[in-house]
Amino acid sequence: MSNQHFSGRCLCGAIQFKVAAKPLREVNCHCDNCRRATGSPYGALAFVPEEALTVNGETPGSYSHSSDRGSEMEKLFCTKCGSQLFTRNNARVGMMGVRIGVIDDASWFKPTVNVYRSRALPSTPIDGEINSFEKMSG
Ligand SMILES: [Zn+2]
Ligand SMILES: [Zn+2]
Repeated sequence: MSNQHFSGRCLCGAIQFKVAAKPLREVNCHCDNCRRATGSPYGALAFVPEEALTVNGETPGSYSHSSDRGSEMEKLFCTKCGSQLFTRNNARVGMMGVRIGVIDDASWFKPTVNVYRSRALPSTPIDGEINSFEKMSG
């Protein structure tokens, strides 16, 4: 398994997916929305071209909210088990964020940026070697 082609599923297995592309961007996001949506100290995402993503099984549920820049963010999740799977932003058409935790083997994951660095919990280790943005980038 490499990051050229990877697969994943939700906790209960009702939704499975495959990605046939190398991620364009690998990110840790420390914003409050990622924290709430994931129930974790931060969100970790690989952004891929939406057309490279194939979803099988149940149709994911959807929840939309506004980002602090006013764009519409959509969260996609399993309505049976509640796993967060994907996220997209209408300011970035054609891109889909895949949650690292639902990927079968994400050992390749290597974030190159910390977003909302200013919101990181004090206990979260931050790699000082990679870029940080105090808020959303781009
Ligand atoms: Zn599920
Ligand atoms: Zn975030």
